[in-house]
Amino acid sequence: MKLSDQINELKGVGDELAKKLAVLGVKTIGDLIENYPRRYEDYSNVVPLEKIRPGAVSLEAKIGQIKGRYVRRGMHITEAIASDETGSVRLVWFNQPYRGGAIKPGQSYYISGEYALRRGRFSITNPSVELVSDFPVNTARIIPIYRETKGLKSFQIRKLVREAADIVKDMPEHLPGWLLKEQNLLDYKTAALRMHFPSSAEELAKAQKRLGFEEVFQLSLAALLNKQELTREKGLAIPFNQKLAKDFVAKLPFKLTNAQRKATWRIYQDLEKTQPMNRLLEGDVGSGKTVVAAMAAMMAMEQGFQTAMMSPTEILARQHADTLYKLLDSVGYADQVGLLIGGLKPPQKQQTQRRIKSGDIKLIVGTHALIAEKVDMHRLGLIIIDEQHRFGVDQRKKLQAKAGHMPHVLHMSATPIPRSIALTLYGELDISILDELPPGRKAIATKICSPNSRAQLNAQIDKQLAAGRQMFIVCPLILDTDLSRGLSAEEVYERVANIDFKNRRVGLLHGKMKSADKDKVMQAFLNHEYDILVSTTVIEVGVDIPNATIMLVEGAERFGLAQIHQLRGRVGRSAHQSYAFLMMSDSRSPSQRLRALENTTDGFKLAELDLQLRGPGAIYGTTQHGALDLRVAKLTDTKLIATARNAAREFIDKKESLKKYPHLAEKVASLRAITNLN
Ligand code: ADP
Ligand code: MG
Repeated sequence: MKLSDQINELKGVGDELAKKLAVLGVKTIGDLIENYPRRYEDYSNVVPLEKIRPGAVSLEAKIGQIKGRYVRRGMHITEAIASDETGSVRLVWFNQPYRGGAIKPGQSYYISGEYALRRGRFSITNPSVELVSDFPVNTARIIPIYRETKGLKSFQIRKLVREAADIVKDMPEHLPGWLLKEQNLLDYKTAALRMHFPSSAEELAKAQKRLGFEEVFQLSLAALLNKQELTREKGLAIPFNQKLAKDFVAKLPFKLTNAQRKATWRIYQDLEKTQPMNRLLEGDVGSGKTVVAAMAAMMAMEQGFQTAMMSPTEILARQHADTLYKLLDSVGYADQVGLLIGGLKPPQKQQTQRRIKSGDIKLIVGTHALIAEKVDMHRLGLIIIDEQHRFGVDQRKKLQAKAGHMPHVLHMSATPIPRSIALTLYGELDISILDELPPGRKAIATKICSPNSRAQLNAQIDKQLAAGRQMFIVCPLILDTDLSRGLSAEEVYERVANIDFKNRRVGLLHGKMKSADKDKVMQAFLNHEYDILVSTTVIEVGVDIPNATIMLVEGAERFGLAQIHQLRGRVGRSAHQSYAFLMMSDSRSPSQRLRALENTTDGFKLAELDLQLRGPGAIYGTTQHGALDLRVAKLTDTKLIATARNAAREFIDKKESLKKYPHLAEKVASLRAITNLN
């Protein structure tokens, strides 16, 4: 058997169990191994009964006098006595009637559980019990606790991992031998097994070190290789025209923020070089990235170069084209701005394509149509990618290929990635951060809500709708699943349209819809043909609907902080006060984590928090190319990052061949696809 084998190849895994494992993201045997414990409980100290003290205990004892009975309707109690040479203790299980039949008198068991005083008697309640062996998994050891799901508990996962342990033993090593030696690292199979079943805290730490190192090493190697590829390229220099820049800035209806000024300045410096620019412009929603993009494009236009700006949706492209048209009008470049999207009428499209080819249009704003349609670029000098994480590396490459040489590239992202993670992710990519918002913005009033107060909230919202405002409702799912009811866009739409707001006009939008249909619904909402738009997170990306002032997030606890922050950035774009209501799926009290959203509007701070609490996957999300998912490494561990990055450089300096390490090669290739910004 191999790690890539489907999980139901494993002994004891049928279709039912495989389904539940899939909920945890476990589809192959390798996934099971990489599904490392969330935490551990230390039951490793086995004591004789005379030494037993209140607290977590482990014993090696025989079990006798087992009796089960129903005490009330539906309540079953199993009681037993465990004893060794030094004493005895009472064991009690609630509602586990099978316990009685499962224990063989006269056999020695490991027993682990909480020894405590209950109703005047000391006993161990609901202990785990396992025949004595040299590889117990539920008792008498440091016990792994996994993420669980309905009908799938840690003890079941332990059993499966134990089963898979023999497969891991045949695993080849992933990293070069010299590297393991140099960094004093455990080999892969030892580390992987010890993550699940460590025999001491030190062993666990060593295993974590090894696996964390491997993760960051892979990332760094991917980033370095991306960078290396780029430095071999030669591009076009676009000289800086100070008069033009000054003129543009003087005519803006507002004053640039310092952050905008600094970022623009850096971009102008990049453009002047023959080495192609590869810069990420990060800025929270509303930080004003578009003006910066306009200023970059303007300089290219002035030199007769074309700029292509690619947006993830038609409606967004349309908005950008409008905004850029207005901005560039002040310096007389408006008629050189063009829009190319799939939805144009054929004659219009043909005309645009002609004007692009002739170089008449110098700033082309578009969607994937820029790649998909037959477009001949004329001296393409600059590419601007809006919402860069929405595009795959192939799409960006295809756009570049249209230049016939390596153009300058500016990536824009509203996902505030903390610098630490950005450096690891993107290697030596240049980063500019717009870390201040233009002055005078009204903060979005954010409130966590319990379903108990839904009626009240709806009444409050309806007043706003009656006053002519609009609302987004965002749901975590498209369709309901067995595990979560009432959180899907479809269900919520039904409820909202037929009950909660039955007098209002309600639209539905989700990712499974065709993109033309999505745009249609979005456009209708923009035209105020709907009062309410129920959607999945597809609306995360930057369409400007100033009249929408309410964002209601359903099942808020299922989202990352950065993601909710992004979502609430959809409102607060007009002079009206805006609101974000974070509806919990039940009346449990919300986590500290969510509370942070009520108290801060700083996207970077929220991203840092997410990073600490949930890892980078929470920030980077799942792109179409797979999630960036660090299981072990903490990107807040600067020492680890430095070491792993140096090692990656060494790997390259040594002219090591990735071909010799197929597993590493595969990982690095997929990471390059996720993180590559070239
Ligand atoms: P984002 O970074 O989310 O793409 P935009 O570029 O769409 O932000 O800008 C958001 C709004 O802020 C726009 O209406 C824009 O005109 C305005 N804006 C941008 N820069 C400034 C500034 N320096 N002062 C005031 N308003 C600004
Ligand atoms: Mg934007």
